[in-house]
Amino acid sequence: MTVRLIDGRACARELKHQVAAEAKDLREDGMRCGLATLSVGEEFSAAAYQRRLLRVSEELDIAYRHRHLPGDAGLDDVLGTIARLNADPEVSGILVLRPLPPHIDEKVVFRALDPLKDVEAVHPENAGLLALGTPRYVPSTAASVYHLLDTWLDSVGEDRADFYHRSLIVVVGRSNNVGKPAVSLGYARQAAVESIDEWASRTVGIGRHTRRADVLVVAAGRPGLIRAEHIREGAIVLDVGINPWTDPETGTVHMVGDVDFESTAPRAWGITPVPGGVGPITDVWLVRNTVTAARNLAGRPDPRRNP
Ligand code: NAP
Repeated sequence: MTVRLIDGRACARELKHQVAAEAKDLREDGMRCGLATLSVGEEFSAAAYQRRLLRVSEELDIAYRHRHLPGDAGLDDVLGTIARLNADPEVSGILVLRPLPPHIDEKVVFRALDPLKDVEAVHPENAGLLALGTPRYVPSTAASVYHLLDTWLDSVGEDRADFYHRSLIVVVGRSNNVGKPAVSLGYARQAAVESIDEWASRTVGIGRHTRRADVLVVAAGRPGLIRAEHIREGAIVLDVGINPWTDPETGTVHMVGDVDFESTAPRAWGITPVPGGVGPITDVWLVRNTVTAARNLAGRPDPRRNP
């Protein structure tokens, strides 16, 4: 079987053009659009994500501001910052960067967000709308997985509706931010969907579930979890994992996925690399949601497009 690489960078470039055009229309219509991020404490992954969002906001000409609180900030400080961002007319989208320090209850923080500015859909109202199949905003990572898959299916000449109706999607990982939204989006495409967490995987062995998948979405945060023997010949594999891995010989830190690409790729029909797969689309999607939020706040949603 000829494996085909599912190229996230090319897909992200195309999406960037669309979002840039939408942002330009928005400005010409006199609407204000801006993304704000909030981080608490020093955390490598949050800082890296923040830098990527700054870069993509600059590229797309979207106002961007970052608020940082020290690691010993209290819940009141965090809620106060959220309240100011909620009230700021220059901010249409707010993202709370994770992880928060253990003494801050993220559920309380998420509930404090203005639901119209909650572009990662972590407020219970937005998470509920997504679960009901009527999303206001689709969380960026799960959205990116399906945007990439939809685009790739088009590129190989598959009829999307027909493909999803006859496919089993298995999602490894059940987090609120990635795994669960990925399940909801599979349901929305009327595919059969199965969700695996660590417990299920340990009880019967992960391969028993994953080998049945037509589409395998892996978001467990476990480097090399999926190997060739875990997939069926001809499956599509989308690797969401981003894990730091230190080369023992050089000491250099690389980002690796949850899928052992070398062994798995030859059995797959299509597969995403890490880096260069789902990741590049995620940042652009968040800005896309920020543009949508600006329209929602202005009471002028774009009737031409889905969330
Ligand atoms: P998370 O909150 O730690 O959740 C991990 C999920 O995976 C949990 O549901 C866990 O099960 C499950 N899991 C762990 N080991 C497993 C195993 N052996 N078999 C089956 N399930 C297993 O992580 P997350 O935030 O969802 O992120 C997952 C990965 O995606 C990480 O590598 C992260 O860096 C990456 N990520 C990438 C992007 C991107 O833009 N590409 C964005 C966000 C996250 P339990 O519920 O039983 O603990």
